[in-house]
Amino acid sequence: MLTNIPGYPRIGSQRELKKACEQYWAGKISLERLELTARELRKENWTFLQAAGIDLIPSNDFSFYDQILDMSIALGVVPSRFKALQDTLANPTCLELYFAMARGYQKNNFDITAMEMTKWFDTNYHYIVPEFEIVQQYHLHRPKCVEEFLEARRLGITTKPVLTGLVTFILSGKIKDNHLTTSQVLQQLLPVYLQLLTSLQEAGAEWVQIDEPILVTDLDPTARELFHTTYHAISQAVPALKILLTTYFGGLEENTALAVQLPVQALHIDLVRAPEQLDSVLAALPEDKLLSLGVIDGRNIWKNNHATSLALINKALQQTGGHRLMLGTSCSLLHVPYDLEVETGLQPEIRQWMAFAKQKVAELRELQEIIAGNDQLLIANENSMDNRKIASIIHRPAVKARLEKITPADMQRHNIFALRQPLQHAALQLPLFPTTTIGSFPQTTEIRRLRADLKKGLITTETYEADLRNAITTTIHKQESLGLDVLVHGEFERNDMVEYFGEQLDGFAFTQNGWVQSYGTRCVKPPVIFGDVQRPGPMTVTWSRYAQSLTSKPVKGMLTGPITILQWSFVRNDQPRMNTAFQLALAIRDEVQDLEDAGISVIQVDEPALREGLPLRKAAHATWLEQAVKAFRLAVSTVSDTTQIHTHMCYAAFNDIIEHIAAMDADVITIETSRSQMELLEAFAQFRYPNEIGPGVYDIHSPRVPTVAEMEALLQKAVQLLPARSIWVNPDCGLKTRQWPETEMALRNMVTAARHMRLTASH
Ligand code: GLN
Ligand code: ZN
Repeated sequence: MLTNIPGYPRIGSQRELKKACEQYWAGKISLERLELTARELRKENWTFLQAAGIDLIPSNDFSFYDQILDMSIALGVVPSRFKALQDTLANPTCLELYFAMARGYQKNNFDITAMEMTKWFDTNYHYIVPEFEIVQQYHLHRPKCVEEFLEARRLGITTKPVLTGLVTFILSGKIKDNHLTTSQVLQQLLPVYLQLLTSLQEAGAEWVQIDEPILVTDLDPTARELFHTTYHAISQAVPALKILLTTYFGGLEENTALAVQLPVQALHIDLVRAPEQLDSVLAALPEDKLLSLGVIDGRNIWKNNHATSLALINKALQQTGGHRLMLGTSCSLLHVPYDLEVETGLQPEIRQWMAFAKQKVAELRELQEIIAGNDQLLIANENSMDNRKIASIIHRPAVKARLEKITPADMQRHNIFALRQPLQHAALQLPLFPTTTIGSFPQTTEIRRLRADLKKGLITTETYEADLRNAITTTIHKQESLGLDVLVHGEFERNDMVEYFGEQLDGFAFTQNGWVQSYGTRCVKPPVIFGDVQRPGPMTVTWSRYAQSLTSKPVKGMLTGPITILQWSFVRNDQPRMNTAFQLALAIRDEVQDLEDAGISVIQVDEPALREGLPLRKAAHATWLEQAVKAFRLAVSTVSDTTQIHTHMCYAAFNDIIEHIAAMDADVITIETSRSQMELLEAFAQFRYPNEIGPGVYDIHSPRVPTVAEMEALLQKAVQLLPARSIWVNPDCGLKTRQWPETEMALRNMVTAARHMRLTASH
């Protein structure tokens, strides 16, 4: 049985690529130096995988920024706004254009906006969205996949080049012209894609991995047609290549027949996310095809349960004979950190249950040995699984018992919104078009240093707390003098909106170097939820109470919601994810109650990641959303009618989930709308969304100070769509990435815009 790795992390075990790219952008290192770093990282991965005995070693899984952008460059899918820049470059395929497409270009009299970025399926990895226009002329650019294949061969290593599938590539992109169809885009791109494969064939590649994860989503007849056209053309054009069609992140379901019948030599399936698909795939797979079994989890950091994998492998063995099977990780290891060995700070008991990329490669070899009869390895693995099952640090009977006792009443406010609203208005005494912010204020260098110094033990807790109180005091006074109505404390104590809570909850562990690429050079270090979640004590109350003591205006308590904490963590795999979400909800619920008890009358529970958790299949959306909404309601429904619950989400797609957003029953929702020019509000208006809304009136992602007039114009649009008394005035999102001067100017203008609105409304 061949071993197959669909992809390996590339940012560098010490984030070398991140650092090199950023230095290159800052003009501190040369292009040669950057390319040298990249070559070293590739070599390290290849030699490691070769030494580990992996048969199908990936190449072209390396990327300076994003593998989808690599494909755009390779096929010449360059938006026309970059054309003029491209014409001035000596080498039009160089990294300068590539980085310009990813990051925008404001140099040499150019001002070109970056390409859009969005999440790759249901991961936290963001890709650069390809843009298709009528005017584009596609031709083969810089065949990076060929270069990297040859580079590895010079090192004596035969690799399996990895390409994004053409259908997934097209369907993950955006068509910019109304008259252009996906079939037309395919017609134009296919010849170039075939050239790319031909050059791989000429370079002597044997196996080529083509990633088509779109096969685990709902496909319409046109998409199916794209598959037929593409793969028939490929089999004709490059008969000498062995194509390993790779799917992951879910099951093939009704696309099974389509996938197994495409003229390729092998199919890879994800048996971690969808073990049940093995039967139907085995039953349908033509006899001349190989099957790669993705049995080791590429999306999570837990040690593999070899017995579970073995059951799947044995079933496949019985029906095919080993010569037709490959063994692999479920998907690329891009989504997990490099190496567990360096995590000396983790509690050993927890650490022994985990595996990062390097360990997962070793697990593949272990599985091979177990298949060959090494029972010792299997027994050791079973023991480890057994001791995790009963470990006292994981299981908290009190938490489980509390979860059992939840009733629908716990997820329901005491009264309906129509009755709560007048009570809240009476209690809070806010003007029409009340103004507020989303929570965080600029995280200045001093604030960051303060937290870092505390962590390093350079300052005492007393000093830290005193300095933080000063920062809060200044921020409250600034907000008062700006004339804001509902104030915030500024979130200066938080490094990250999930980590801050995780660090104070039982059941969480933290790595020192567990970085995962999020986009480009940005990496995240997700917390690990290993056990039952419990809140030992209040997490935010001291800061909120202090902030409230400084002012007679309401100060919003600021919490992160259960679904967002879940989505941005590595979650335990020994119970359904939603159980963990409900445990998180209970912890947040206790915090909400404590805030209310401390005299906080407005509490915001952020759920910016709510949409990210949506299952890939539409049929599963409603059930998942119902559960997610319940978790949110469980977290907030403890408060009295007069306490106002806010939530915040920052994205622009609500149309398809609006009924669930309404079911959350937050008294106020603040959302991102400024970039979509209030278009988004139409979904709320059409639905007759009953509660209050704060449509973001300016984009916080840019240092630009919005004018009073433009914010007023947006608010004018909003009053066309929604009752004036439901409208709040606020920025798009938190202000932590901004500087103070622009923040104050922007908020001053925002408050003025709200005042103008009040004047017109009262006439
Ligand atoms: N309260 C958070 C902040 O203001 C919200 C961040 C977010 O939406 N991602 O920073
Ligand atoms: Zn936001």
